[in-house]
Amino acid sequence: MTESIVIIGGGLAAATAAEELRTAGFTGSVRLLAGEQHHPYIRPPLSKAYLTGQDDRDSVFVHPAQWYRDQDVEVSLGAHVDRIDDGRVVLAGGEEVPFDRLLIATGAVPRRLHLPGSDADGIHYLRTLDDSEALKAVLAEPGHHVVVVGSGWIGLELAAAARGAGQDVTVVAPEQVPLAGPLGTELGTMFRELHETNGVTFHLGTGVQGFEAADGHVTGVATEAGVLPADVVIVGVGVAPSTELAEAAGLDIDNGILVDEHLQTSRPGIYAAGDVANAMHPVLGARMRNEHWANAIASGKVAGRSMAGQDAVLDDIPYFYTDQYDLGMEYSGYPPLTRDAEVVIRGDRAARELIAFWVADGRVVAGMNVNIWDVNEEIQRLIRDKVSVTAAQLADPSVELSSLT
Ligand SMILES: Cc1cc2nc3c(=O)[nH]c(=O)nc-3n(C[C@H](O)[C@H](O)[C@H](O)COP(=O)(O)OP(=O)(O)OC[C@H]3O[C@@H](n4cnc5c(N)ncnc54)[C@H](O)[C@@H]3O)c2cc1C
Repeated sequence: MTESIVIIGGGLAAATAAEELRTAGFTGSVRLLAGEQHHPYIRPPLSKAYLTGQDDRDSVFVHPAQWYRDQDVEVSLGAHVDRIDDGRVVLAGGEEVPFDRLLIATGAVPRRLHLPGSDADGIHYLRTLDDSEALKAVLAEPGHHVVVVGSGWIGLELAAAARGAGQDVTVVAPEQVPLAGPLGTELGTMFRELHETNGVTFHLGTGVQGFEAADGHVTGVATEAGVLPADVVIVGVGVAPSTELAEAAGLDIDNGILVDEHLQTSRPGIYAAGDVANAMHPVLGARMRNEHWANAIASGKVAGRSMAGQDAVLDDIPYFYTDQYDLGMEYSGYPPLTRDAEVVIRGDRAARELIAFWVADGRVVAGMNVNIWDVNEEIQRLIRDKVSVTAAQLADPSVELSSLT
């Protein structure tokens, strides 16, 4: 009898798992139940080159629609799964889809602000292609006062995109320093200065209390320090993993769906990948729920191979990148594991050309290259091989990273 694998999702992790199943030689049926009306697409350009009009629409899709037909992967668009039962999932419309193995790749959704006035028009969140297109149309109109709520990666990328479109931009956030959580004060300040140089105003150490509106449209953001005028608000205050289905099915959950290094959940035959999965990482020796593009690919591959019956393990060093104005950076490592680490900088912070290393117990646990390229593989090697290093070696540009073994 033909085996059937069902994938719930329709994002990058889902599409990658479908591809990997075929690459691994799985010949049974593969059905991808995508909650959105689009074939799987990648999200990073939605706050960068697609939002600013540099990338065209076709470039955001993981594969053209024809690819799924060629690979005999059945894609159901707008197919929202309501429930997982024993050996079948149930769609919102009532259709029951049986499975032998199941992948949950439901991703994450933006955290929403529930404050007075937060239902006013002009308040945007960004997760989907449709969100990005709506925002793109607004940013194309001149003369807006844009307030970005949140000074994390998405908030800052959106501030850069809005400035690039010539808008007046203010960032408001409760932290004293943008990105202080993942990067620490010194490097977070570097990002603040980058944005200030490009004309962004910051109101930090300030919580948002609500929104003012006239005729249903936002006119201001009320903060502890007063009201900031705004006719466009973009909220980027983090995401929450979409675990509802897994929770209702009785799977183990703790900050995402708990999976082992093969990405199997607490129920044999059911797997999870991407933003929704909290995986045991054998190299880092810790659990990791990673909300990044590279993890969606790496975990999608491992889930695909595991479901095809191969012995696959998710042990890639976590990686992500950002582009803001003329700054490009890559980061390897898992920020929650850097809390007690020493930051060592090689390069020129003022010129924003540097490599930063997070060092704990004489080992690199994370590294970030800013406007310096072709070094991230070496950074990953130092982390993976737990190479013994000194701060002096790391700070000295004459010491080749490849010489550290
Ligand atoms: C604007 C933006 C910019 C980003 N920039 C970067 C970046 O620069 N670098 C980086 O590394 N990462 C970036 N990311 C993060 C990266 O895009 C995510 O880590 C990645 O999309 C996760 O993929 P996923 O497949 O796990 O989940 P998602 O992409 O969230 O896909 C999950 C899909 O599942 C669907 N779904 C949910 N529930 C159901 C259900 N019950 N039934 C059917 N379908 C369902 C959802 O509708 C969604 O389409 C960015 C994200 C955003 C939003």
